Amino acid sequence: MKKTIEKKTINKKALNNKKTQDSKKTQDSKKTPDNKKASDDKKPVKKLVYPCPAFEKCGGCQLLHCSYDMQIKEKQERLTKLLKPFCKVEGFLGMEKPFHYRYKVHAAFDRDRRGNIISGVYEEGTHRVVPVETCLLENEKADAIIATIRGLLKSFKIKTYDEDTGYGLLRHVLIRSGYATGQIMVVLVLASPIMPSKNNFVKALRKEHPEITTVVVNVNDKHTSMVLGEKEQVIYGPGYIVDELCGMTFKISPKSFYQVNPAQTERLYQKAVEYAGLSGKETVLDAYCGTGTIGMIASRKAGKVIGVELNKDAVRDAVMNAKKNEVKNIQFYQKDAGEFMVQLSESGEKVDVVLMDPPRSGSDETFLGSLVKLAPKRVVYVSCNPQTLARDLEYLTAHGYQAKKAVGVDMFPHTVGIEAVCLLEL
Ligand code: SAH
Repeated sequence: MKKTIEKKTINKKALNNKKTQDSKKTQDSKKTPDNKKASDDKKPVKKLVYPCPAFEKCGGCQLLHCSYDMQIKEKQERLTKLLKPFCKVEGFLGMEKPFHYRYKVHAAFDRDRRGNIISGVYEEGTHRVVPVETCLLENEKADAIIATIRGLLKSFKIKTYDEDTGYGLLRHVLIRSGYATGQIMVVLVLASPIMPSKNNFVKALRKEHPEITTVVVNVNDKHTSMVLGEKEQVIYGPGYIVDELCGMTFKISPKSFYQVNPAQTERLYQKAVEYAGLSGKETVLDAYCGTGTIGMIASRKAGKVIGVELNKDAVRDAVMNAKKNEVKNIQFYQKDAGEFMVQLSESGEKVDVVLMDPPRSGSDETFLGSLVKLAPKRVVYVSCNPQTLARDLEYLTAHGYQAKKAVGVDMFPHTVGIEAVCLLEL
């Protein structure tokens, strides 16, 4: 599954969850039937603790009517309930300032009925763009850049893409910002590879926002529900940004996976490494490793680390990241984690600790079956979906493992998303 390329039907709620693309449909269907607008319902308007003008239509935040303390309390309770058969939940780590935490911002572009350029998110279950100008979750600088782009389109006579007629150019804008470095990447998703006056466009954009360090054109000429297409052309800067997490630098390219909430990601990774209980000698497997973040942070306390990941862009970044950080005791493999696990368990290789961070759908029996055969003494399971975590814990605890403890980390304030780390021992 390619998780770095997002389905077009994703609204912000789905984007809040890192490994969410595959589950979007199910989430939507639970809330609003496809042929019905959320706003058609005569439901009472919720009184919001944190007001947002797009709340009713956007669907990105489900918890703005709860105080943040209450949100954390409820998330902890939900996690505790789900993990009750397995282990205790030590706590739920909330954010000190739970706003504007998204360092990856996506906006779909369109025109309203009067022909004005709008950008925002898709209304749930539809391809209708709900205009969003400011957002409580998104990085404010990214929102300002998107506003500038809306204005520039008019002066550069660039049309937004119309899905029905196939006419127009700009489909989406994706902005990724470095938390520690402040570097900013703007990805313009176009329906065709030719962008008129692209250099002047970049110049005008950077005049307003000199902090932009790179601009990439991504071409998506398919009638598809994906946001990003295959082809890319760098029109300014290096084509990627660099960010720092837990004292290491990471390269982030348009398609590679990188957690959206960097402040909480550091806490999440610290917890994962703490639970791994490394002494410096262990062989560690980082499964579903993305750009190698967790494995590289763990490498400082391990004998050697093996990373496995399906997405080839992410693996390429992981290899570069290791080089850049001079991490010598790590190796990456581009492969399905389950298949890799089968090979590893048959090869007789000894692995002491497995760190695993699968997508929302969780792991699978191929992986878990071989994990049990490999028999590492500790497994640290990082999960963005406590339901599939509980399902996989059921398997592992029935096959010799004991869940010891778990902790929640609030990666997605104001949304129902729950991230958790769980320690299992043989
Ligand atoms: N640990 C990383 C990435 C976690 S996201 C981080 O914290 O940044 C989950 C990762 O699993 C994604 O990078 C996705 O591409 C990868 N993935 C999904 N299915 C996979 C599979 N079957 N085998 C290996 N990797 C997979």
